[in-house]
Amino acid sequence: MNLIRLLLILVLIWIVWSFFKRKNANKIKDKPNVKQIPMVSCKYCGLHIPVNESIRVGNANFCCKEHSQL
Ligand SMILES: [Zn+2]
Repeated sequence: MNLIRLLLILVLIWIVWSFFKRKNANKIKDKPNVKQIPMVSCKYCGLHIPVNESIRVGNANFCCKEHSQL
């Protein structure tokens, strides 16, 4: 009787553990989608570029140094 109870508890722990493991795996998969780089358009030519590649002058974004100076 005690052995069956122990086995049942072990199975229950395994189910909970595998559930949390799957939950964490889904979180890791979702991360790249959540961390999308916002796009900005160049004020001079209107080209869309990722915000980390753009050149920011005041409130305006530009695609390259040349356009930021024009
Ligand atoms: Zn431009």
